Amino acid sequence: MTAQKKKIKTIKVNVDKCNGCRACEVVCSAFHSAPKYSSNNPARSRIRVVRDPLKDIYVPVYAGEYAAAECTGRDKYTIDGKEYDECAFCRASCASRDLFREPDSGLPLKCDMCESEPPLEKPMCVQWCINDALVYEEREEEGEVAQKPEEIETGLESMVNKYGLQKIMDTVARLNKAGQNRKTK
Ligand code: SF4
Ligand code: SF4
Repeated sequence: MTAQKKKIKTIKVNVDKCNGCRACEVVCSAFHSAPKYSSNNPARSRIRVVRDPLKDIYVPVYAGEYAAAECTGRDKYTIDGKEYDECAFCRASCASRDLFREPDSGLPLKCDMCESEPPLEKPMCVQWCINDALVYEEREEEGEVAQKPEEIETGLESMVNKYGLQKIMDTVARLNKAGQNRKTK
């Protein structure tokens, strides 16, 4: 890791502007299908809209980190007289609900900000939200960033020069074996 400026990407969500059209879900699942745009299924989307039309509640929620177990504390929020259910704002892919799980494999889904080559100017869900409920922002912050592959390769090269290729390969093989043994115990 090296210290340098890193780009922070943020999507601001304005629940008051969301009308629950679910265009964001459709385009996210289409963008992430393989091949791209070959299908769309909101169940595969990395953004889901928690909806309660009778209470005029629509909350777009982005898929965040995977949680192995559901939490035991739950919160209810009342904002401008509307009561939002427990878990309404939670981004976790967790066992207590079907959100953010790939329907075929059950694997957790996570928003990747539409990382792609060439990069998009704005994430797809932001582009498709005609109500401006989703607004994209970028800023720079000082921080640690991962080494680029060339730097890692240079690091490997200097290790090979120092210890010799055979010794490094033996160590990797030993670590691999130890990992496999741990898994089978
Ligand atoms: S596209 Fe925008 S308005 Fe439609 S559901 Fe998604 S966030 Fe809400
Ligand atoms: S930013 Fe991209 S990956 Fe994340 S929810 Fe929006 S469309 Fe999906």
